[in-house]
Order: sequence, then C-alpha cells, then structure tokens
Amino acid sequence: MKKLYSVTVYMIIAMMMLQMTTMTAQASPLHMDTNDSDTVYVYGEDEGNAIEIFEDASLQVALPAIEEGTEAKLVKIEDSHILLTYVDDTKEEISGYVHTDYIISELELQEFLEWRTEAESTPREYYLHKDRMIEEETSEAPEEAIEEETSEAPEEAIEEETSEAPEEAVEEETSEAPEEAVEEETSDTPEEVQEEDVTHENSESTKKEDELLRVAEEQTHHVFAGKQLTYVYTSPSQSASTFRSYSFGHSLKVREYNDSWYEATVRINGIWETGYIAHDDVEFERAAQLEGVAKQNRTAVYSDVSRNSTILRSYNEGQILKYRPYSSEWFSATVILNGTATQGFIHADDLRPVDEVPEQLEGYAKDRVSIYSQTSRTSTVLRNYDEGQMLKFRPYTENWYSAVVRINGEWKDGFIHKSDIVLLTDAQEERNVFAGKQPTNVYTSPSKSATTYRSYTFNHALKVRTLTSNWYQATVMINGKWETGYIAKSDVMDERSPQQQQIAQRNTAVYGEPSRNSEVLRSYNAGQVLTYRPFNSSWHSATVILNGRAVQGFIPAGDLIPTNAQETKHGVALQNVNVYTSTSRNSSVLRSYSTGSTLKFKTLNSEWYTATVRIDGEWKNGFIHRNDVTSLDGKTIVLDAGHGGTDGGARAGGMVEKDLNLSMALRTKPLLEAAGARVIMTRSTDVFVTLADRAKVANESGGDIFISIHNNAFDGRANGTETFYHTRHQSANSQRLAHAVQNAVVGQVNTNYRRVAEGNFHVVRETRIPSILLEVGFMDHAGDAAKLRQTVYHDRAARGILLGVGEYFR
Ligand SMILES: [Zn+2]
Repeated sequence: MKKLYSVTVYMIIAMMMLQMTTMTAQASPLHMDTNDSDTVYVYGEDEGNAIEIFEDASLQVALPAIEEGTEAKLVKIEDSHILLTYVDDTKEEISGYVHTDYIISELELQEFLEWRTEAESTPREYYLHKDRMIEEETSEAPEEAIEEETSEAPEEAIEEETSEAPEEAVEEETSEAPEEAVEEETSDTPEEVQEEDVTHENSESTKKEDELLRVAEEQTHHVFAGKQLTYVYTSPSQSASTFRSYSFGHSLKVREYNDSWYEATVRINGIWETGYIAHDDVEFERAAQLEGVAKQNRTAVYSDVSRNSTILRSYNEGQILKYRPYSSEWFSATVILNGTATQGFIHADDLRPVDEVPEQLEGYAKDRVSIYSQTSRTSTVLRNYDEGQMLKFRPYTENWYSAVVRINGEWKDGFIHKSDIVLLTDAQEERNVFAGKQPTNVYTSPSKSATTYRSYTFNHALKVRTLTSNWYQATVMINGKWETGYIAKSDVMDERSPQQQQIAQRNTAVYGEPSRNSEVLRSYNAGQVLTYRPFNSSWHSATVILNGRAVQGFIPAGDLIPTNAQETKHGVALQNVNVYTSTSRNSSVLRSYSTGSTLKFKTLNSEWYTATVRIDGEWKNGFIHRNDVTSLDGKTIVLDAGHGGTDGGARAGGMVEKDLNLSMALRTKPLLEAAGARVIMTRSTDVFVTLADRAKVANESGGDIFISIHNNAFDGRANGTETFYHTRHQSANSQRLAHAVQNAVVGQVNTNYRRVAEGNFHVVRETRIPSILLEVGFMDHAGDAAKLRQTVYHDRAARGILLGVGEYFR
C-alpha cells in the first residue's frame, strides 16, 4: 500500500510538472486556486544555500536572497519562474520571482528532504529523478498494482532494489565528482539542462551496470557549442540524423568517444538518448567577453549570422555592448527577450572594440562646433569651439568622433559630429614658404588673436602644410616639444622676393626692425652698393653678418637709389678733380683728372656724383664732389666760326682767319658735347654764311649761349686775346660769359689778356641769347702767330672755351 500511495503521489506531481511545462511553453501566467497545495518551499543546490529572488519577471532587479527552506505561497507561474510571496524576518510580506528549479511543493517536501540527504540537489533534480521513476513504473503500474494487491511484490521489489544496490553504490561514488563539477558551473550559466541531463544520466539507476561503469571511468568534458547550430547526432557521423541542436555558447557536458566525436546524453521526448557531437563543433573554453561600441545608429543583434535574419534587438550608436568572438565577421551576444537569455549575433563591422584605441585625428571646426556629452545633437553641450579651431579626436562611430575635453579642471569624454569637422588628412600638402612679415607669427590656433608659439623674421624659410584658404599649419619646437602651430597665409610669401642691388644715397644703416628707432645692426656710407630684398614700400630687408651669424635687418628704402635710377651726367673739370673711394674728401683718391677734363659720372646725392674709373685694368666705383665738376647736360651752345667761303676774314703770314676759326670751333664742339652740351654750328665747313643768318640760327636754336670765334690782325704789334659783348640783349650774362671765356682761353693758350669790351658786332648785337665774340690771337703778331700755326693751340683754345663755358654755367 505504501508503494501504491507513493506511485500515486508521484503521478500527481508528474501531472503538476507537466502542467507547469505546458504553461511555460505558452508563457501565459496562470493563477492557481488558493488552497493548501499552493504552499511551496524554496531549496537551492546545496544545503544552507540562499536562493536568488527577483522583483521582476525579466530578473533584472534582485531582492535580498531568500533563505533555504522558506515557506512561500505560489502566486503564478511565468516562463521558468514562479511568482511567490513569503514573509521575511521582519514579518513583511515579500513578492518575487524564483526559478522553478528551486521550488518544491508542500506535498513533496518530505520526500524531497529524504532524497536530498542522499544527493544534495535542487527540487528540479528531485522532480526529474521522480519523473524517470514514474515513467518506468507507469508502464508497469497495472501489473504492479495487481501484484501489490495479491502477492509478494514488495519483496520482489525489494529484491529488485537490492540487486540494483551495487549500481546505486557505483552511482553514488561516481556521481559525486560530476555533480561537484556541475555545481561549480551551474552558477554562471543558464544552460544547466544539458549538464543536469548528464548528471542524471550518470545517476540514472536504469542503465546497465557495465555501461555505467564505462561512463564512470570515462573522462567528462565541459565544453561549449562552437557553432550556431551545434548538432547532437544519432550516430557519430555528420550525415546521421540529429537528435537536437544547441546554439553557440551553450554549455555542454560530453564524454570522450573517439578522436573525432564526443558522446552526450540528451533527453528526447522524455527518453534519455546517447548522441554524438563532433569535436570540431565545440570549444573547450568560452571566448572571453569583450566590450565594444555600437558603430551604427541602430546596431542590430541578429538571430543568426546573417543580416537577413531576424533582428532580436537593436542599439543606439555609441552604446557599449558586451559580446564574444564567434567568427571573423560575427560576434555572438546574449540578449534578454521576455526574461529569457537568447543567443544572437552582431556583425563585426557594426562594432568597435573599446580597447582598440583608434589613432588620433586632427581637424578643424568647419563652423562653430559643439562637443556633446553623448552621440546625439540633442545631448548636453560640454563645450563649443570657434570656426577654424583645431581639434584632436578619435574615430568613435560611423557619425561621431570622440574627444576629451577639460571642463572645470576635469577631463570628460565628449563627442563631435563628423560633419562638423574638416579632417586634416593626407590631402595636406607640404610647402616651402618664406616669412613675409616682420615678425611672422606662428599662432597656437588659426586666429590672429591667438597667442603665438614663436615668431620668425622676414624672409625666414618655413615649411608649412596646407590647411584652410587662410591658414597654414606648421610644426614648431617649443621647449623641447613639437607643437602644431598656425601661420596666416597673408603673412608668408610663396617665393622669396628677388635680391636687388641699390646704392646708398646717403650714409645709412641696417636696422634690427623696420624702424629708424630700432637697433642699428650695421652702418653704410653713401655710395655703397647694397644687396637687399624688397620688404615694403618704405623698407628693404637685408642680411648682415654679425659675429659670423646672418642676421635679418632693414634698410630705409629712401636711403637707397636703384643703380639704374642714377642719372648719367657729363661735365668738365673746372680744376683738378679727385675721384674718391667714398663720399668724403678725406677718403683716399682713386684717380685725379686735370682741369678741363671732360668726365662722365652718375648722380648720387646733392653733394656727390659716382664715377667708375679703370685702375690697373679694373673698373672701380668712386665718388666725385659735385662742386668739382660742371655739367653742361641740357645746355645748348651755338658755336659760330667767323667768316667762311668767299669771306676769308683777316689774312696774315699765310694764314686765313676763316680756317683758324673753323678749326677751333670744330675742336670745341666735341669738348662741349663731352661735357654734356648740345652744340649747334652756324657752319662746320668752309661756306659763306651771312651775319644775319648766324644771328637767326642763334635766335631760333633755343640755345643757351652764343659764341662767335674769330682771330685778329692789326699792326703787327697788337697781340693777345680779347672778347666782346653787346649790351642790347642779355648784357649781364653776356659780360659774365665774356669774362669767363676770356680768362679761360688766356689761361689755356697763354696769351696776353688784352681786354673784355663792348663791341658793336652784328652777331652779338642781334643775338637775343647771351652772346660773345672771341678773338683768340693776332695772326700778324709774331708771338701769337707762332701759336696759331700749331693745332695744339687750336685745341688749347677749345679747352679754354670749354672751361669758360663751364665756369659760366657753374
Ligand atoms: Zn673775324
């Protein structure tokens, strides 16, 4: 009778379990009538265990653990959990969810506790144990029942049981170890079903003895499903049919079978079956969990390793996700769906592992840019930056960079939208430019109001990188550290301005800065030719060597004149002329020129001319004082050789006056021209010209002075030089010209100074410009004639006229 009762009880329990299983499958809560049978007890794996209890069905919020053996009221069954209420130490009624594994009904409590002394296990294990016994016994039930009623069955049963005792003993011995292992591992996984199946298989009393022994001796492995569909085959062959499959990461307990296969015990339709799992399909260790950032906005967890599979759940861009490696393209991840942990897959492209710190990038703010607290434009703005501000950041997701910002002395993670940044990439071009300003600043950010890292002097060669339309980027060494700085494009030159040479018009200096108040680096004398580069309209830049070092300096542009702007001048030496080595009468003399020399020189300043002289076959630059020479540049002089043609003038000693006059005039002309004058001849050959035409030439020439050259003859005793003028036009100038020429000719020809006098000659009377009539010598005077016969004296006379004109124009 006792046995029958037991069987009946087992059946009731089994039905209850079946009902619970059905309800689980439907996932529909069921309210049970409140009666004594609703009283349940909680028990864990081990004696003295506390049992986890949760506030919600998704098991997210844990309550203080419930003590083993606590009596509770079953409220409803939901999925694999049971909502129950119990009274805690403080007499407060607590409501929470406990896994069905840990619930034992009041009816079963005694049996469970008795069973448990033999095998410390959960109520679930107890039920499974009973389940098997019921299955075995139900098939025999009618017979048994009869036997029980009529015969010695209990004894037989006892005998049967005793005959099985060794098995039990074996089971007990061998089951210890696997159970221990199971216990250790059950705590971390929801996959205990298989483990427990194995445990059960080990402890199952209906297995044949040899098989059990074999099983007991076999090495048991705890492995993990390595494929998304890890199959348990009916025989050790991939082509065999399958009992069932497990998803990736599922924990499995297997036994060695051969080199390629494991053996596993699975429960199929309530029957324990031995199946086979390929070595290649499992992994010994579960890959370590990784953390990554969702790169896509809505990063999906797929049900399978395919983007076409069902999306189990999706996450926002930037969310940190936990996952395990699965394949090169996929990660595996567990998501909780309706409180159940479900295996899913995330495409590797959609995640970036958090421990992979991407390379830092640089860019500048396209516009005013915000650093957000999260990867969303609606999140808090941590900080704003102005347009052009250079920023450093790292790739974070498809649309966002991550950046660290300092807020109130604290470093915070922030995010910048990619579209707000102009990235500095390889597209940056290196360029060689030259500092175009004094100073040319390298700023800490691309703004002229930013502080400067350092400055360069004009013309300094700089290596820069292209950045924006207005700014270059440059790397500068600051206090032993490389820093990125910014140079305004407008501050640099693509090419160094070409080197030029100019001559110092006056004593000048190379200044440290483009200001006459700045330090004088070096001084130069007027006339020195200096090499420089243009800087601006007021200053040139020049490099001077100071203590062996090239130093950049500035020369006032007004102190220099371009050598090609120097005016070439012609003049006559009114006395001995020195060409000095510098613009100082105290400087050494390169060369001297005698009185009457015609010279070429160039304008320099109000005091000095420059002149080039050839010394020992070399051209040298020298300086002539303006007072020492008279330039006839721009002067027009009308030379009139008296008489001509049929008018021979005076005759004496075989000489004809018209010939002497022409000879002297023709010799004067090139001298005057060499001294800069334009010369107009009233005649340059032996032709007759009327006096009126001579005056007309003078008056229409636009000339400055008129000089008529004649020679005398009188009584053989009269001698010397005389010069006439007329007071009708330009009286004073004519007299001054007359004296100047008279003195000079007398000086050169060394004749007697006869007189300077007014003379009523047509050509001087009718000429409206300053005019004179010169009588060089007396052809009928022995002394004068001796000179007039020699052309060298014609030259001396010409030189005298030149000097006189020079003196007149001084
Ligand atoms: Zn004459």
